[in-house]
Amino acid sequence: MAIERIIDTSSHEDDPEEQRIEVSLRPQSFAEYVGQERLKKNLKLAIDAAKKRGEPIDHVLLYGPPGLGKTTMATVIANEMGTNIRITAGPAIERAGDLASILTNLQDGDILFIDEIHRLGRAVEEVLYAAMEDYKLDIVIGKGPAARSVRLDLPRFTVIGATTRTGSLAAPLRDRFGHIYRLEFYTFEEIAKIISRAAHILESKIDTKAAELLSTRARLTPRIANRLLKRVRDYADVNGDGIIDEPTTSRALTMMEIDDLGLDPADRNLLGSMIEAYGNNPVGLTTIAALTGDEATTIEDFYEPYLLQIGFIERTPRGRRVTARAYKHMGKTDKLAE
Ligand code: ADP
Repeated sequence: MAIERIIDTSSHEDDPEEQRIEVSLRPQSFAEYVGQERLKKNLKLAIDAAKKRGEPIDHVLLYGPPGLGKTTMATVIANEMGTNIRITAGPAIERAGDLASILTNLQDGDILFIDEIHRLGRAVEEVLYAAMEDYKLDIVIGKGPAARSVRLDLPRFTVIGATTRTGSLAAPLRDRFGHIYRLEFYTFEEIAKIISRAAHILESKIDTKAAELLSTRARLTPRIANRLLKRVRDYADVNGDGIIDEPTTSRALTMMEIDDLGLDPADRNLLGSMIEAYGNNPVGLTTIAALTGDEATTIEDFYEPYLLQIGFIERTPRGRRVTARAYKHMGKTDKLAE
C-alpha cells in the first residue's frame, strides 16, 4: 500500500479551501516571483521585445519537477504581457475536437497554458503543433465520402506548455517552442523568502529562525514550503498562541515525521525497501513501484527528483541505485562503501 503523504508536490485542486489559499499565495509579477533568475531574465527580454513589436511572445515550454512554479510562471507571463490566460491540462484534452474548440475560442494575443503537455494524445499533439506553427486549424467536416477538410484562421496565440519530462514530448511538438527552460530547485534562502512572504499573506507571525528551519525541510520546493507553513500554522494555533517560533516549528515537524532533510515516512519507506530487497544494486522503476505500492510515474515525478538532487539515489543504465549517503542517513551500513 502506498503511504498517504503529508507533504507531496501534487496540487490538491479538488479541495476548494486549498485552492483559494493556493491562488492567494501565487505570485503575480516577476517582482513577486522569488528565484529562477536566469529564467526571469530571459523571459523579461522576450516579453519586452514582443511588446515592442506588438506581437505575442513565442511559445514557451517549462519543464521540471512538480511544485517548482511552472503554472505560476505562466500566469506571471500573462500578467506581464497584459493578456488573458486559458489554463488546461494534457489529459483534459481528449480529442482533436476538444482542442479545436479551445483554439477557436482564443482571442488575439491570448496565452494557452497546457499543464502535463506530455500527456496529450498523438492526434491532439498533431493538431496542436500545426496550429502553433502557422495559426491555422485544419478540421474535417462530415463523415465518409461527403467529408471535406476546412482550414480555419486562428488568432495569434502563445502556448505555454508545462511538463515534468521533456523526453516524453514528440520531437515535432518540442520543436515548435521558441523558448525551452528548465526550472531549478530553489536555494534555502529563496525558500525562506517564499515562506516569509506566504506567512505575511496568511497573516501569521513567523520568526526568522523558524522560517530558516522550515526552509531546510521543504525539499527546495515552493509548493511544499507553503504546505509545511500551513501545517505548522495549524499546529501553532492549536498548541500555542499562534506564533510560529523555532521550538513550535521543530515540534510540528517531529509530529509530521519530517526529518532534517525534509524526508517523510514515504521517502524513508522507499529507501528502506530498496536497501532491504536489493542493497545498493540497481533496481528498475516498476520494481520500486511494486515495493512501495505507488505508480511508476509517482516515483518518477514525486519521489525521485529530490532524492536525486540530494544524492540519495542515482540513475544507472540498469535502474536506480541507493547511494552510500542514503545508507548513512538511514542508519544502515553500505557494504560496498566500507
Ligand atoms: P508547478 O506548476 O511547477 O507544479 P506551481 O506554479 O503550481 O508549480 O507552484 C506551486 C505553488 O508554489 C504556487 O501556488 C505558489 O504559491 C508557489 N510558488 C511557486 N513558485 C514560486 C516562486 N518562485 N515564488 C513564490 N512562490 C512560488
